Amino acid sequence: MSHSTRELFREDAYLKTHPATVLAADERGVILDQTIFYAMGGGQPGDTGMLRLPDGSALAIVDTRRGATAGEILHLTARGAAPPAPGTAVTMEIDWQRRHRLMRMHTCLHVLTAVVPGPVNGGSVREDSGRLDFDLQGERLDRAEIETRLNELLARGAAVTTEWVGEEELLARPELVKTMSVKPPMGFGKIRLLRIAGIDLQACGGTHVADIAEIGPVLVTRIESKGKQNRRVSVAFA
Ligand SMILES: [Zn+2]
Repeated sequence: MSHSTRELFREDAYLKTHPATVLAADERGVILDQTIFYAMGGGQPGDTGMLRLPDGSALAIVDTRRGATAGEILHLTARGAAPPAPGTAVTMEIDWQRRHRLMRMHTCLHVLTAVVPGPVNGGSVREDSGRLDFDLQGERLDRAEIETRLNELLARGAAVTTEWVGEEELLARPELVKTMSVKPPMGFGKIRLLRIAGIDLQACGGTHVADIAEIGPVLVTRIESKGKQNRRVSVAFA
């Protein structure tokens, strides 16, 4: 039996706590009717946190993943945790400190794609660092120059907003998909675009800060060659 979880983190990435109802649960984890927990994807780790149960106890959530069927999100519990019964009303609480750092770093990588020219072949976001692989055959990148330009943009600030386009429009505007290796999910009719005013516009389903001024200063820690054509640019919070 499949369940569909409403993705509240898409509508508001700043929700730290919110009620939900258990649809199903087993020894692996819990499926809720709606969630503020981001499910791992697009290079961003899944959220951690807890579910407060009606008796006041807390059920730790150690990771969040997409389920076996489309639309299903599984909140992973620690080994040996007793699964709550379907219909149980819970209060979700994400580890906000961790998530906010992931949001800041994820949004920072969007800004990085405006500083480094070239298609993105992959990347990952962590709590204190992040990296992108750019497809730049033989091109030399100057670490200090990228760091300076990136920090200039971050210090200036810019609003981050989302908008939606139809799949046909997205196919007609390939520049909206910068990450060649991670195509946005098609077949749902609409694709979410992330706009950083005057800096970047691309398809993305992750969680982001509302203004890039919230990211703070960063360091470009490393530029490495990965294979024939990839240049890996690594970033960390200063
Ligand atoms: Zn994003």
